Amino acid sequence: MDRSTSNALFERATQTIPGGVNSPVRAFNGVGGSPVFFTRGEGPHLWDADGNRYIDYIGSWGPMIMGHGFAPVVEAVRQQAEQAIGFGAPTTLEIELAEEICRRVPSIEQVRMVNSGTEATMSAIRLARGHTGRDLILKCTGCYHGHSDSLLVKAGSGVLTLGIPNSPGVPEAIASNTLSIAFNDPQAARDAFASYGDQLACIILEPIAGNMGCILPEPGYLALLRELCDAHGVVLIFDEVMTGFRVSKGGAQALYGVTPDLTTLGKVIGAGLPVGAFGGRHDIMRSLAPVGPVYQAGTLSGNPLAMAAGLALLNALTNDAYTALNAQTERLVAGMQARAEAAGEPMQFAQVCGMFGLFFSAKPVRQFDDVAACDTERFKTFFHLMLDRGVYLAPSAFEAGFLSATHSDSIVDETLTAFADSLAALPPRG
Ligand code: PLP
Repeated sequence: MDRSTSNALFERATQTIPGGVNSPVRAFNGVGGSPVFFTRGEGPHLWDADGNRYIDYIGSWGPMIMGHGFAPVVEAVRQQAEQAIGFGAPTTLEIELAEEICRRVPSIEQVRMVNSGTEATMSAIRLARGHTGRDLILKCTGCYHGHSDSLLVKAGSGVLTLGIPNSPGVPEAIASNTLSIAFNDPQAARDAFASYGDQLACIILEPIAGNMGCILPEPGYLALLRELCDAHGVVLIFDEVMTGFRVSKGGAQALYGVTPDLTTLGKVIGAGLPVGAFGGRHDIMRSLAPVGPVYQAGTLSGNPLAMAAGLALLNALTNDAYTALNAQTERLVAGMQARAEAAGEPMQFAQVCGMFGLFFSAKPVRQFDDVAACDTERFKTFFHLMLDRGVYLAPSAFEAGFLSATHSDSIVDETLTAFADSLAALPPRG
C-alpha cells in the first residue's frame, strides 16, 4: 500500500510539531513506522492522504459510535454554526445535554461540562479532595485517566507503595499523594483501604479498563470498592470517559449495577468534538464554584457546537442501537477467536458492547501485569499486516478497539478475512 504522501506529511509535521503529532500514541512509537494522515471518514471507513481506504476500529478513540459523518450530528453542528460558534455564556443546549446525561445515568444528579477527559478527571479529583478535606487518592495500575500531574504516576514495586512520577515534570510531592493498586485484585483493595482508607479522598478507576486493551471487572470487584468507600467515607469515581454511552445507555455502571459517587465522561458525549464532563451526587457537586469553594472553570466549556453534536448523537443511542452494536461486536470477536484457534495462535479476547480487546497471550489477561507480559513484538507485526490489508487498529498493543453502528456484516466479514490472512502471514513463533 503506497503511503508516500502520509510519510511526507509526517516528515513535514515533525518540523513544527513535537514528534509530528499532537498526542503521543498517534506517532506509531508502539508499533514502529510512521503514522497515517487521514483526510476523510464515512461510516466505518477512513481515507488517507494517498487515497487508501481503511476499515476504522478506532473511531476517533471512541466517539464515532454511529460511524463517521453521522448525518444528525453533521446537521446539528452546521445549524448551530450558523447561529453562533460560541458565546462563553449560558445556552439552552447545555441544559439539554445535562438533562439527557442525568436521565441516562441516575447517579449523576448534576454535571459540569469541560473540554476533555483529562479536565474531567482532574476536576473530579479536586472536587473529591475539596469535599473530603483529604489529599491521598487511589488508582489502579494500567487505568488511564488523562495526563494531569496526580494521575501520571506508577506504583512502586509493591502494592501500597506511594506513587512515583512516571513523567519528568511531575513533582514528587504531587505523585506521592497517589497510591496505586492492581485492577481486579480484591485483596490489594482491602489492604489499601485498611492502611490508608481514612486518608483517601477518592479512588478513581475505569470500571471496564480500556487503556490496557479491554479488561472487564471480575464479578464483585466494583461492588467491593463501593463497600470499602462507604466504610471509609471515600469518594468512588468511575472514569467513564471511554465507557460512558459506549457500552450501554447508562454506561458501565448500569451494566454492573454499581453506583459511583462521581462519574467522568468524554468522547461519546461530544460526538468527536472536544468535550468532557464530570458529575454525580448533588451534595458533592454543590462544593463546586460558584456554589461552593472548589474552583473549576473553562472559557470554552459547554461550547454550543459541542453540545449540539453531543445531543444529536445521544438521541440516536437507543437501547436498540446498543443491542445491535453488541451483537455485531460479539460476531467480530467470536470470528477472530475461531480464526486464532484455527491458526494455532494463542490469543485472548475481551468484549463489551461496542468495545473489544485482543491480546497475544496464552494466559488470561485480568490486570496490567498480564498485559505487560503479552507478546508486543507479535502485535507490532500483526498491526502492520492488518494496516496493509486496509484495517486500521489502534497503533498500540495496549488500546481497545471500537466498532460503530455502521460496521455491517460485510465490513466484519472483510475484517475477519484480513485477520485470518494476517495471522497466516505472521512469522512462526519461536
Ligand atoms: N479517561 C479515560 C478512561 C480515557 O480513556 C481518556 C483518554 O483516552 C481520558 C480519561 C483522557 O481524556 P482526554 O484524552 O480527552 O483528555
